[in-house]
Amino acid sequence: MTDRYAVFGHPIAHSKSPQIHAAFARQTGQDMTYEAILAPLDGFADSIAQFVTAGGRGANVTVPFKEEAYTLAQRLSPRAQRAGAVNTLVFNAEGILGDNTDGAGLVADLTRNLNHTLAGKRILLLGAGGAARGVIEPLLEQQPAALVIANRTVSRAQELADLFGHGVAACSFEAANTPFDLIINATAASLAGELPPLSANAFNATTLAYDMMYGRDTPFLSFARTQGAATADGLGMLVEQAAEAFFVWRGVRPDTAAVIASLRAA
Ligand code: NDP
Repeated sequence: MTDRYAVFGHPIAHSKSPQIHAAFARQTGQDMTYEAILAPLDGFADSIAQFVTAGGRGANVTVPFKEEAYTLAQRLSPRAQRAGAVNTLVFNAEGILGDNTDGAGLVADLTRNLNHTLAGKRILLLGAGGAARGVIEPLLEQQPAALVIANRTVSRAQELADLFGHGVAACSFEAANTPFDLIINATAASLAGELPPLSANAFNATTLAYDMMYGRDTPFLSFARTQGAATADGLGMLVEQAAEAFFVWRGVRPDTAAVIASLRAA
């Protein structure tokens, strides 16, 4: 019987995940389907329960349900536990397992696709929401020289710095005013077409500016270019977090480069 998977979100029509997982399944010969399901804002748990009853084997979870998925899961992977959010669910005889592949996806994109070494580097992470929290531990595992979290609400950045400890600092956007090797925009500002009030001094010609947003040029990337920095969007992270989820479900690692290239061409 064909195995069923889906992504749950609200909204969900824009999601590229069905396309990505269909490409992975074709490429690796997996007998599976993957659909996009719009869950009502107050009905995420019910939507998941219906999908499990109908034979669903696993799911991805996107905005705004990642924290609800964390509480819904009966067991959590260590990385989901640390992220405080779940983007991947596995349904099996032991119940619902919650995992988080966003951080692994970001690190894979940076290190494998963009050849950007993180060890010994100074990293500035913009934002303190779910996306930022999910990538902190995987970034720290790469042993950067420093990780500074800057956020509009500085107290939220400070909470994350306190939570992760060992060498993580917090500040306002404006206070991050010395050069960083890597600046990751994990705020939702790009969604609104806005630029956080960053200091030009955070960038130089060797900085890589990475926006988790994808699909369009953003004020953050264009500001970074004017400071001479190299830039990358979050499309590679999207495909890599999907590949990690695919591996969790199917035990097979798909080739991501071809899928990233075809999404870019489209
Ligand atoms: P959250 O709503 O959890 O967090 C939003 C963050 O952005 C907060 O730190 C908030 O600051 C900050 N923020 C919101 N608006 C502004 C603004 N106008 N100026 C400055 N800061 C702002 O969102 P997520 O963490 O879930 O998602 C953040 C982004 O990451 C989204 O664009 C999302 O699409 C992207 N993403 C991409 C992925 C990929 O695979 N490429 C995966 C996951 C996320 P404050 O605390 O002050 O409110």
